[in-house]
Amino acid sequence: MKTIKNIGLVIFLIGLGIFTALPLIGTFSLSQLDFDQLVLDNRIKSELFISAIENDVVGKPFDGMQSLSPIVANALDKANTQHRKNKEYKKVIYTKSHDMATMMGKRAGTGFIAENKGLMWFLTFGLGILGALLYILPNVVLLGQKGIKNNGIYLENATNRGWIAWMVFIFLVSFYLILYFRPQYAVNWTYLVDPISMKISGNMAGHWFVYGFMYCVVMTVMAVRMYIKYRHNIYQMVRTTSVLFFQIVFAFLIPEIMVRLQMPYYDFKNAFPLDYDFFFQWNLRSLIDSGSIGLFILVWGTLLTLVIVPVMVYFFGKRWYCSWVCGCGGLAETLGDPYRQHSSKTLFSWKVERWLVHGVLVFAVGMTLMTLYSFFTETGIVLGVKTASVQNTYSLLIGSIFAGVIGTGFYPIFGNRVWCRFGCPLAAYLGFVQRFKSRFRITTNGGQCISCGNCSTYCEQGIDVRAYAQKGENIIRSSCVGCGICSAVCPRGVLKLENGPEKGRINPTQVLLGNDVDLMHLVNDK
Ligand code: SF4
Ligand code: SF4
Repeated sequence: MKTIKNIGLVIFLIGLGIFTALPLIGTFSLSQLDFDQLVLDNRIKSELFISAIENDVVGKPFDGMQSLSPIVANALDKANTQHRKNKEYKKVIYTKSHDMATMMGKRAGTGFIAENKGLMWFLTFGLGILGALLYILPNVVLLGQKGIKNNGIYLENATNRGWIAWMVFIFLVSFYLILYFRPQYAVNWTYLVDPISMKISGNMAGHWFVYGFMYCVVMTVMAVRMYIKYRHNIYQMVRTTSVLFFQIVFAFLIPEIMVRLQMPYYDFKNAFPLDYDFFFQWNLRSLIDSGSIGLFILVWGTLLTLVIVPVMVYFFGKRWYCSWVCGCGGLAETLGDPYRQHSSKTLFSWKVERWLVHGVLVFAVGMTLMTLYSFFTETGIVLGVKTASVQNTYSLLIGSIFAGVIGTGFYPIFGNRVWCRFGCPLAAYLGFVQRFKSRFRITTNGGQCISCGNCSTYCEQGIDVRAYAQKGENIIRSSCVGCGICSAVCPRGVLKLENGPEKGRINPTQVLLGNDVDLMHLVNDK
């Protein structure tokens, strides 16, 4: 079995190696026909830009996007500078240079990668999936009987912040930096999934399709690992199936199929303020222009945030969303599972968490109020501040850097719920409801607790579960996402996730300290 695992690891690394090399290889040559079409599609009016690209790019071969991209950026910058100087604002091109390079690269791909999409898919995704499964499946035998399977987790390089963890960290952070800030280097990745994209949406793949597809693949493979590891716990099996279903069907397939049907791209489970641009002017206009389906989405999105989400949190706690439905939670619970022990349990982290997550919520709500005011009054400035610059700041700092680069890239070092714990404004909102008006609690059978600390160690939200268990107190914390892992790793069956009457839900026990407590007084009080 160990040999199969090792073969799997080698196959996986070959697939990953080829995938990682793709951004810097490949040949590109833009034809005049393709460029003319690009000019037409993007309504480019700058003759300076057109002639620069025709002279320096069209018909010329380039090795890798690293040689094509700077020429496009340079031509765009020069043309825009000149047009602004001449006050020819209609000729200014507002597309970002890396987006322009991405569009050109997509049309200009020639050679082995662009012409052998199926084979390249197999050599990257195919080998990756095959290798990962060969590595994971022998665990059915190797892990032995059902039960808690965390032996040696602090002795493994990959799960104890060793060099493998740091390599994973570097890979994930670089991957997100490319996706968000340098999509031109993802062009070769898009070729791999073009055939799949054509089948689902009828369009060639963009870098966000690559991301969506990869997200589903990674979650599926890591879900297999979850099924094997937590096969003693039915809650984990069902919950893992649920997040997988919502990711593949709701977040990936339905929005792509909607595009094929000429409808707006929309993920029906993505609630505001996690879906922070739902009320942005461009989205509202596009929904209003899309007729009845657009209006339905508008009503659904608003109801989801204001009614459905809080009502469900009242009955089931925020776990129904964060651990059963949400895509960010889904990735954290599958890809991030090997790293959950890294969540910090210090008091300092708890303070940072409360300030940060509620700060992001205030930021998101403030930005949305500005946006709505701007939309209805048709002004771009509120109290002297440009709405667009607030939106851009939020998109960059929270939407891209916090949720993407840090939120996932930091899994191997800071644990799997960095974003959910410290940054997600929806989690902060749900947390309020869970803390003050919900039927959810984790009950603790304190008499059975042996203080092993498994629960606290594997709580991804940094909650000191053991402290509650030792006192026999119910755990009612706004940050608890109800993943149920504390219960799954408790060797004594102390913890139980329950929904019940609100009355008596919060049951703090008084702690008696030192000799200055009059015990008789306390007893008489009771
Ligand atoms: S307290 Fe338990 S259920 Fe809640 S987040 Fe921590 S591990 Fe998950
Ligand atoms: S509740 Fe369970 S896992 Fe937590 S310290 Fe007690 S025995 Fe250990």
